[in-house]
Amino acid sequence: MTRKLFVTTALPYANGPFHIGHVMEYIQADTWVRLQRMLGHEVHFVCADDAHGAPIMIAAEKAGLTPQAFVAGIAAGRKQYLDGFHIAFDNWHSTDAPENHQLAQDIYRALRKNELIAVREVEQFFDPQKGMFLPDRFIKGECPNCGAQDQYGDNCEVCGAVYAPTDLKNPVSALTGATPVLRSSEHFFFKLSDPRCVEFLESWTQDGRLQPEVANKVREWFKRGEDGKVGLGDWDISRDAPYFGIEIPDAPGKYFYVWLDAPIGYLASLKNLFGRLGLDMDAYLADPTTEQIHFIGKDIVTFHTLFWPATLKFSGRKVPDRIYVHGFLTVNNGEKMSKSRGTGISPLKYLELGMNAEWLRYYIAAKLNARVEDIDFNPDDFIARVNSDLVGKYINIASRAAGFLHRRFGGRLSADVGVEGRVLLDGLRAHSATVCTHLDEREYGKALREVMLLADRVNEYVDRHKPWELAKTEGMDAALHDVCSVCIEAFRVLTIYLKPVLPALAAQVEAFLQVPPLQWADAQRSLGHHVIGEYKHLMQRVDPKQLDALFEPPPAALPPGGEELAPEIGIADFTKVDLRIAKIVKAEAVDGSTKLLRLTLDAGEGRLRNVFSGIAMNVAPEQLTGKLTVMVANLAPRKMKFGISEGMVLAASHADEKANPGVFVLEPFPGAAPGMRVR
Ligand SMILES: [Zn+2]
Repeated sequence: MTRKLFVTTALPYANGPFHIGHVMEYIQADTWVRLQRMLGHEVHFVCADDAHGAPIMIAAEKAGLTPQAFVAGIAAGRKQYLDGFHIAFDNWHSTDAPENHQLAQDIYRALRKNELIAVREVEQFFDPQKGMFLPDRFIKGECPNCGAQDQYGDNCEVCGAVYAPTDLKNPVSALTGATPVLRSSEHFFFKLSDPRCVEFLESWTQDGRLQPEVANKVREWFKRGEDGKVGLGDWDISRDAPYFGIEIPDAPGKYFYVWLDAPIGYLASLKNLFGRLGLDMDAYLADPTTEQIHFIGKDIVTFHTLFWPATLKFSGRKVPDRIYVHGFLTVNNGEKMSKSRGTGISPLKYLELGMNAEWLRYYIAAKLNARVEDIDFNPDDFIARVNSDLVGKYINIASRAAGFLHRRFGGRLSADVGVEGRVLLDGLRAHSATVCTHLDEREYGKALREVMLLADRVNEYVDRHKPWELAKTEGMDAALHDVCSVCIEAFRVLTIYLKPVLPALAAQVEAFLQVPPLQWADAQRSLGHHVIGEYKHLMQRVDPKQLDALFEPPPAALPPGGEELAPEIGIADFTKVDLRIAKIVKAEAVDGSTKLLRLTLDAGEGRLRNVFSGIAMNVAPEQLTGKLTVMVANLAPRKMKFGISEGMVLAASHADEKANPGVFVLEPFPGAAPGMRVR
């Protein structure tokens, strides 16, 4: 029977580019989806950017952008990763899209109608200077348990204590440095402690749809205390303005907490896709044979096994059929002190170094299983698996046989494979079901071990028959033809088994064999007297030097009192910033500000720009007039208290400006002229 599969990966938070952990999850899900498609099943595979919440609002403000523009910039960077690692989502959407606003509000109204929304007064820290309630992560103070300084509002990184932000001693706002005040406000709660929710979730989480270790962990949350009350609290789903999110219906100034509308983004992305395809999403999800499957990391289990299914169930919607949870990816076992190799891998750098994406897909798949286990990226292991197994065992089969077939037999295969050849090929075909089951159960490591054992058998067959000797022996043409044909047939079967993991390589093999896209069932068929194309080298070995270049250097010792480097960027990111030489035509003090100077700049454009710059502290306006400097010329104009600023002047300062005051404007060497680009 054809399965109908709605598959998602977790929505990445849109405050930064993908890291290697995202790529691992996408490889896991993409491999699974590709298998289902090869089996003839119907899959809709979608994801979206998780765009809302206070951290994005604040990051956007720091960047001088609207949250929408900030998120759009992040979204524009996604494609190079997805294409680069051959991740074939059917749709990539955003939780800020209209579909999500509509769905989130509809779902909320349904929950309210079901009497599962409560309104309660909550006391929270409020930043009087910024005029907003502070998320836990934006409050710092002394740990109430051990007294450590500079700890976040939710837990202490020194002693590990977990507490409410209101427990912190001497709290300060991380946004402004102001002392926050307690203020009370109405919050909306989803009543998870309602007996209907508890009953539903106790059954849904324990009916076998979750991995056993996940179900066990979740069971602890339902433990009843001595009072018989279940340990499941109501869930605060609202935040006060200013907030970047979706407005709560009939509640001015209230927004949905980002975690309420984030998973609804799965549905919004599907709805957007179905809109484009002209299909009916409601009918699709109402079909009891549709399976809804979410791939997620172990850090977001609570949201996906409690809040999300309850949200769906009590708004009258389909609940998830499976939540596939994976562990984290560590690098070099998380050894932070490794001298030559650090502990981070930048996915973009991997691609920029020209490393083959399918090496990484193969390596990650070889390490993955169906349990919630961390896997480790070990460079020596990576080299061994790619060079010895993937290239040495599998690719090698084709390269040993294809040349003879092409040169001596015009590429035509012999259909007479002999008894030994038939036994070998039947043996490979007999493993189709086992390999398929391993892949379907996300036991990719087991599947690939099995495929490599099969490749060993083929190589043993080649070693026994020595085609290179047959080729030199008079009268052995037919034997050579048969042996090489068996090898190509075997190579084709193994390619089918590897295709979900190595889609681009499989496409090259299909071109070389001159066959249509391989399906799983094709393993049981034979090519017969088929003519294949000319063999071109299919895959290089890894050069260990590439791995040395891949690893980010370990964090260097900081310069005295300096600050850590920002996350690595590629040259493409750098060239987005248009830096120009500008002449300071005029510099004036700004009334009402001790920090700002008003600069009139000539960047060779035939017009002058007005720029406010926070450099007044240790330079007098008259020192600047007539000098050249460097400006960011393509920064969006910003409205400031004193007027519009149309650019930014580059200046250096110490990380701790209070202890080491001073702002130092850059000046180019003589010879530079206004309008020249700095690159
Ligand atoms: Zn502490």
